[in-house]
Amino acid sequence: MNRVYKIFIADAISADGLAPFRNDARFELNVQTGLKGEELARAIEPANAVIVRSSTRITRDALKYAKNLQVIGRAGVGVDNIDIDAATETGVAVLNAPSGNTTSAAELTLALLLALVRRVPAADRSMRAGEWDRKSFNGTELYGKTLGLIGAGRIGSEVARRARAFGMRVIAYDPYLTAERAAAHEMEVGTLEDVLRRADVITLHVPLTDTTANLIDDPQFAIMKAGVVIVNAARGGVVNERALYRALSENRIAGAALDVFESEPLPAGHPLRALPNVVLTPHLGAATAEAQHNVAIEIAEAVRAALVDGDLSRAVNAPAIGGEQMRKLRPLLALAERLGKLVVALSDGAPEQLEIRYGGALEDAARPLTSAALIGVLAEVVGYRAVNFVNAIHLAELRGIRVEQSRVSTHRDYSEYLELRLSTALQQKLVAGALLSEQHARVVRIDGFHVDVQPRGSIVVLRNRDVPGVIGRVGTILGGAQINIGEYHQARLEAGGEALAAITVDGRVDARVLDELRALPEVIDIRQVKLD
Ligand code: NAD
Repeated sequence: MNRVYKIFIADAISADGLAPFRNDARFELNVQTGLKGEELARAIEPANAVIVRSSTRITRDALKYAKNLQVIGRAGVGVDNIDIDAATETGVAVLNAPSGNTTSAAELTLALLLALVRRVPAADRSMRAGEWDRKSFNGTELYGKTLGLIGAGRIGSEVARRARAFGMRVIAYDPYLTAERAAAHEMEVGTLEDVLRRADVITLHVPLTDTTANLIDDPQFAIMKAGVVIVNAARGGVVNERALYRALSENRIAGAALDVFESEPLPAGHPLRALPNVVLTPHLGAATAEAQHNVAIEIAEAVRAALVDGDLSRAVNAPAIGGEQMRKLRPLLALAERLGKLVVALSDGAPEQLEIRYGGALEDAARPLTSAALIGVLAEVVGYRAVNFVNAIHLAELRGIRVEQSRVSTHRDYSEYLELRLSTALQQKLVAGALLSEQHARVVRIDGFHVDVQPRGSIVVLRNRDVPGVIGRVGTILGGAQINIGEYHQARLEAGGEALAAITVDGRVDARVLDELRALPEVIDIRQVKLD
């Protein structure tokens, strides 16, 4: 029977957005909006995915029974209503829908800007008060002015396009903007200081991060042109509100339009509400029918791809891997996880450091391979269900396991080669594997020994003195216990020294048989690891 994914829709989501689930028997929908506290946590309990907009808060408490949850989808861009740390620790990927809002947010920026420079809200208020005042609302044109754009991503570049249609020049500050992208959007690029000194109009389109918090503060207001106007429809906190209040009330800048605030809802008595040269909206950037439709579809598709194909390209808290990339990486990830299990089973003592060396053709493989190898290493330590792609690196950090990843030149014998070195306080163990074709994985090295077995089923790794007859005796004991050997690869460093055998078996060798093997006088050490 096909697997059924349970999707819990916790906020009002546009019906079109649910269509990808409704017409597909693999999904079962539970739509219950407005839940809080215990009720919310209980509704999340059986779900594989939960989708929210901005009303429902997914806190640590809401995740307390989340045993099956794989994905939280946020229909929109900001994930402030989701406790990302708690989700990551629980192993839940948080996905967002960053592009569905772009046009609406860009259009609101222009709406706010025009409202501000033409004083539309104030004129409207005066009309409603019964006046006909044609003197108090003189404005300024946008034509021929310079727009200083701070943040030139999706929304910023759309704002730039619209500003050019108004006959504005655009100068942008965005440290991550490539020259190609700037040229494609016909933007001049400058430093933050250039933008602040030259712009007649400043609009902000950056995320709120440690670097962008208070990006516009007293010193920045101090160097702006007299008469500048500023629009923030990005995130509250990017512009320091106290500094903005001072700049506005001392008429150092001509006006501000704000859709976002340091604290939302903006408190009723907030001083910004009382200033005349300010236009305020209550976080309406994405409040259009089209944006809600777009983000609902975008998040539904992202959640579906994450559940069905393991596509985490929209995850904000996991290695971002797209569907096609995942398809290419999957065999290598499976190998990494199995090598992780193998190396930990061969080691004594608590893992302290894991080095992952990859030599192969796949780009951007380092982080996903690290996560996959750590799943293998940690599965025994924290339990297989407790570790996954999302939280593996985090769990390793919590346990103080240092992780190093590096790319090595392609191996002489294998085009896709992966090596793990696990250090404990007692020793360092090395295992390596290779992909001979897309689906054909092999374990090719254990410590100094070259081996060649498939990483599947159970592997018994036996170290013994290299004397005649060992293979026969081991085979006899396993055969006597009705254990079928898949592959038996014996390797040695030098004749008569120490040898290592990697033996794959169907099923599992029970403890009694392992003891019997261990009791053979030639055997130095024996370990079994179940890889599937
Ligand atoms: P984006 O990721 O496409 O673009 C953000 C840009 O900011 C990127 O180009 C990035 O390089 C740049 N950036 C990052 N740090 C910077 C820094 N220190 N200085 C200058 N530039 C920096 O995001 P987007 O979709 O364009 O969204 C932009 C902002 O708008 C986000 O904060 C988003 O939350 C907000 N937003 C608000 C609403 C609303 O309702 N008002 C709706 C949608 C988006």
